[in-house]
Amino acid sequence: MSNENKSIHEFDVNLICEYFATVERQGPGSPEITMKALSFVDNLTDKSRIVDLGCGTGGQTMVLAQHAPGQITGVDLFTKFVDLFNANARKLNLQNRVKGIVGSMDDLPYQEEELDLIWSEGAIYNIGFERGLNEWRQFLKRGGYLAVSEASWFTDERPAEIDEFWQDAYPEIDTIPRKVAQMQQAGYVPVATFILPESCWTEDFYSPQEAAHEAFLKKNAGNKAAEEFIANQRHEVQLYHKYKDYYGYVFYIGRKL
Ligand code: SAM
Repeated sequence: MSNENKSIHEFDVNLICEYFATVERQGPGSPEITMKALSFVDNLTDKSRIVDLGCGTGGQTMVLAQHAPGQITGVDLFTKFVDLFNANARKLNLQNRVKGIVGSMDDLPYQEEELDLIWSEGAIYNIGFERGLNEWRQFLKRGGYLAVSEASWFTDERPAEIDEFWQDAYPEIDTIPRKVAQMQQAGYVPVATFILPESCWTEDFYSPQEAAHEAFLKKNAGNKAAEEFIANQRHEVQLYHKYKDYYGYVFYIGRKL
């Protein structure tokens, strides 16, 4: 395919949504990792207010709901994802505590110091890590927690091919110490930081997509944009296997001062 270096931003969002609605997760992660991140969060009760920003179809939100008390709101920009999110909550009989709403993480409908926990797996990049940390802080109570996963470099230097890929996809990708410093600067105590295991990419994120690629191509036979999109996804998988020593997703958990 000749489009191997096309950026994901150049594809139509409806196409991206249609594709990602067919898989359980829209980003790397796993139930075990959601629970591990949650283990660093204290003091949640039945009265706690939790939000999951960029929740997608809610794979991680449902795990959160099954292991944490309180009311949980998932926020996502796309109606299709939110509809699937609410269907998933109903299927698990969580609809009284878990609700998905359409909204944008840069224009949240919350009051100051209203929330106990802000969660966001593989989604803060949409607003940018530093901006998200700074803007969302006002909505947290003092002592409230923020738990986000974010693409990060594992080394100070890396091969040009992968550096260029990420500079195009998400220029705010940075090393773990720099991300932790940004968290501290934004007014959080860095409580924990850990790297997601490779299996979160391979078994939980990429493997289920192999069947999804085929089904999507079949459904969109003859659609050039759909073919290019899948070629792009496959290229991303190849890059991951080639350069996984240099980058990955990292969970950052902080407590508001
Ligand atoms: N958290 C989910 C997961 O880990 O499976 C989804 C991660 S996916 C990589 C990023 C999500 O952010 C998508 O569901 C996308 O629709 C959502 N998103 C993008 N821009 C957004 C915005 N401005 N406000 C809220 N959600 C947004």
